Amino acid sequence: MSEFSLIQRFFAEQAGLPGSREGTEQVSGLRVGIGDDCAVLDLAAGEELVTTTDTLVSGVHFPEDAEAELIGQRALRVNLSDVAAMGAQARWFLLSLTLPDEDENWLEGFSDGLFSAARQYGCSLIGGNTTRGPLSISITAFGTVPKGKALLRSGARAGDEIYVTGSLGDAAAALGVIGLPDTWGTIPGSQKEATASLIKRYWQPSPRLAEGLVLRDLASAAIDISDGLLADLGHIAKASDLGAELRLAALPQSSALRAAVSNDAERNVLALAGGDDYELCFTVHPDKVSVLDGEIAEGRLIASRVGRMVAGGGMRCYDKNGQEVSFDKSGYQHF
Ligand SMILES: [Mg+2]
Repeated sequence: MSEFSLIQRFFAEQAGLPGSREGTEQVSGLRVGIGDDCAVLDLAAGEELVTTTDTLVSGVHFPEDAEAELIGQRALRVNLSDVAAMGAQARWFLLSLTLPDEDENWLEGFSDGLFSAARQYGCSLIGGNTTRGPLSISITAFGTVPKGKALLRSGARAGDEIYVTGSLGDAAAALGVIGLPDTWGTIPGSQKEATASLIKRYWQPSPRLAEGLVLRDLASAAIDISDGLLADLGHIAKASDLGAELRLAALPQSSALRAAVSNDAERNVLALAGGDDYELCFTVHPDKVSVLDGEIAEGRLIASRVGRMVAGGGMRCYDKNGQEVSFDKSGYQHF
């Protein structure tokens, strides 16, 4: 199969792009798609483009024998999480795929997973390329946001309340069993369902795009939690020249996590330092807290208030008695 026919069969047709056999579907804002040297994107007046890129390498970011469909799902979802963290609307993405061989079953599964996530989040493939080599997937995602409205890490002020969406620690708890099929058999029956739900959180993280749009006018700073709450909130603190205080008892934890990990301290470590949740952490100025809490009460946002930004540096955690608790793990470090 030539590179052209591979792209055509597994990607261009699913993307509904001009130049594809069934390319009748119009992609919003795409003036020129696959088939020219570059895609040409049409931005509306008053819109800014946000863009981010991420690479997943086989054996490093996912097990070598992982299901292709799950890899496709996850690759796009983790990129869109960054778009969500900017308060932007997801629009388009580019795919660069390095393949060891032309395994049609693998490509079909990968393409199914990728486009199922693309449809779910309203993001269209607009171009890319393939090369031969060890399996890796690079995606560059693009979103749009009204001019000046992108949520930055640097916008927090002392006294701002800290929130996180959804729940924390699920994906990190799943990491213990992913890629270890032998472990699966040793999990007690009552915990299998909980564990399956944790594993789904790892493979199919939910980029909080709808939440990001709600937060655009309410949050002072935002980040997505890819490396753990302490590490990622630490980025907001550093960029905003502040410190942060967290209440351990307020950290949102799912019923699946509680069922799978009974020890409170272990769950807190997963929630604070475990990566891969792809929830949003954001800060809200006291003037906007009542509006934000109204959005939560009315169900437009699932989020929990977990702490406060403070003057000076450092990250501190407190238990329910107000005692400071220290952690030696501050989250996953890349290097
Ligand atoms: Mg990020």
